[in-house]
Amino acid sequence: MTTQTDSGTTGRSASDPTSGQGGNPSGVRGRPGRPAASAAARMMALTSELTRISGPANVITDPQDLRTYECDGLTAHRCSPGLVVLPSTAEQVAQVVRACLRAQVPYIARGSGTGLSGGALPRADGVLIVMSRMREVLAIDPASRRAIVEPGVTNLAVSKAAEPYGLFYAPDPSSQQVCSVGGNVAENSGGAHCLKHGFTVHHVTGLQIVTPQGELTWLGDGTGVSPGYDLLGVFVGSEGTLGIVTKIIVKLTPIPEAVTTLLAAFPAMERGRCRRVRDHRGRHPAGRDRDDGRAGHRGRRGRRRLPLPRGARARCSSSSWTGRSATCGARPPRCARSARRPAPTRSGPPTMPASAPPIWRGRKSAFAAVGRISTAYIVQDGVVPRTALPAVLDRISELSAESGIRVANVFHAGDGNLHPLVLFEDGDAVQAAAAEEVSGAILDLCIEHGGSITGEHGVGVDKSKYMPRMFRPDDLDTMQLLRCALDPAGLCNPGKIFPTPRLCGEVPGVRRGPHPLVAAGQLEQF
Ligand SMILES: Cc1cc2nc3c(=O)[nH]c(=O)nc-3n(C[C@H](O)[C@H](O)[C@H](O)COP(=O)(O)OP(=O)(O)OC[C@H]3O[C@@H](n4cnc5c(N)ncnc54)[C@H](O)[C@@H]3O)c2cc1C
Repeated sequence: MTTQTDSGTTGRSASDPTSGQGGNPSGVRGRPGRPAASAAARMMALTSELTRISGPANVITDPQDLRTYECDGLTAHRCSPGLVVLPSTAEQVAQVVRACLRAQVPYIARGSGTGLSGGALPRADGVLIVMSRMREVLAIDPASRRAIVEPGVTNLAVSKAAEPYGLFYAPDPSSQQVCSVGGNVAENSGGAHCLKHGFTVHHVTGLQIVTPQGELTWLGDGTGVSPGYDLLGVFVGSEGTLGIVTKIIVKLTPIPEAVTTLLAAFPAMERGRCRRVRDHRGRHPAGRDRDDGRAGHRGRRGRRRLPLPRGARARCSSSSWTGRSATCGARPPRCARSARRPAPTRSGPPTMPASAPPIWRGRKSAFAAVGRISTAYIVQDGVVPRTALPAVLDRISELSAESGIRVANVFHAGDGNLHPLVLFEDGDAVQAAAAEEVSGAILDLCIEHGGSITGEHGVGVDKSKYMPRMFRPDDLDTMQLLRCALDPAGLCNPGKIFPTPRLCGEVPGVRRGPHPLVAAGQLEQF
C-alpha cells in the first residue's frame, strides 16, 4: 500500500523488511556477518571507481544530498542510499553495474521517483543509479511511427517531440508530466486512455538493457515481431529487477482527428446509474474514469475551477471518445436520463496538458486534491474484472462504514483498475492501523473477484507481502527461477516484489526440495 501524507513524514513501519537500515534485509547472499568496516571500505573503493566512470559531479555522497533520494512516491518507506550515481550514457551504466558486481554491492535504478510501490526505494548498503541525466528523444521516425528515447525522458516529452509529426505516445499515466519512460517500462504503466490504446507493454518494441552481468544488449529490434522467447515481454513490468533499461523504442500513435469528452454527474454511486453512460454510437470510449465525489470532485472543482453540474456531492464519470471527426466529433455522446445535468465538452488530444480537456486535467489532479480532505492517505491499486466493479464498490463502502475509515474512490472504470484512497489522520496510530487493514481487505476483495493486487503501480516493497495471497509457492518459485537465471548474484534491486528475502541458491520455498521443473531436468537452478 502506498501511504501519502501532507507533510510527507509518515513513519516507516517497524517491521519493514526492506528499509535497508541495519541487518541484511535484502537477502543479498554472502554478506551477513561481514564486518561493517569491510562494507564501508568496499563502498569507499566503489565511490572512487564510480567517480572515474561518471565524473565527480555525477556521484553523490553527502548525507544531506543523499536524503533527496530516500524514497519514491511511497513516502512511508524511506532509506538514504549508500551512494548515488547519475550516469550520462548507456556505456557508463554498464560500467557502473560491472563495478557493483565486482564489489558485490546491490544497486537500484531510479527514474523520476514517482513510483507508488517503493520500487525505487534505495538501500543504505547499495548504489542508486539515477537515470535522469539520460533524457533525450534520440530519434523520431514518422514513417514507421516509432521513436528511440533514453530512459530518463518524461512520458509527456515524448508526445511533445512527436506532435509536429501528428503523432503521440499513447500510454498516459496521470504522472506523465514527471515520470520517466524507463520507469513506465519497469512498472508497465497504464493511464486513463489505456482502455483503448493498451499499456506500456503494447507500445514498446525494443529495449537496450544492461544485464546484471554488466553487458549491453538489445531485446527486440523495434519491429515488434522478434523471433524466440519474448524476453521483451518478460522485461516490461519487471520493476527494475532484471537489469537496467538504457534505450527504448516506442510506438507512436496518430493524434486523433477529434476527441469528445463527456463529464456526467450522478446523485449517487449506484451500480445501475453508473452503467448508463452509453457508448457513443456503439463505439467504446478511449478512456473512462469514475470517482465517487470525494477526491475527483475536489480535484476538478478546487484545483482547476471546472464548472460542475449542481450537487456538490455528485459522483462523476468522465469518458473520452477519440478517432475521426465523422464518428466521434460530430456531437456529444448520448447520456442516460439518470445522469444529472451532463456537461459535454469537446477538445484536442487527450494527453496534451495545454489542450487536454479540463475534465481530464482535473481527474489527473485527483490524488493531490485528496490532501484537502485528509492529512494522510493510502493510495491503493487493485484491479477486478469490469463486471465485478459494482459488487466490489458496494463492499468497499461496507468496509468503510464498518471500520469508520473514509475511502475515496477514483478509478479507471474502463479497465476495472481501482484506486481506493484510504484516508486517515496523520499521527493517529489507531487510524493508520485501521486504514492498513481496510487496504488489505480491499486487495483480498480484488483477488476474491478474480482480479489482481496491482493494476499499474507494481508490487515493489509495498505489496510483496500480498504476493502469497495471489500466487502459490510454486508460482513464486517459478518467478524466482527466472529472476535468478538473469541475476544469479541477486544484486539488481533486491528485496522487491517477492515476499521473503529468498534469492538464488537458497532453500526454495515451503517444499524444502527442488522445484518440480528443476527436478524434471527442464530447468537449471544456479
Ligand atoms: C500523482 C501520481 C499519479 C500516478 N498515476 C499513475 C497512472 O495513472 N498510471 C500508472 O501506471 N502509474 C501512475 N503513477 C505511478 C508512477 O508514476 C509510475 O509507476 C511511473 O511509471 C514511475 O516512473 P518513474 O520514472 O517515477 O519511476 P521510479 O519511481 O523512479 O521507479 C519505478 C521502478 O522502475 C525502476 N526503474 C526506473 N528506471 C529504470 C530503468 N531505466 N531501468 C530499469 N528499471 C528502472 C525502479 O527501479 C523502480 O522499480 C502515479 C504516480 C503519482 C505520484
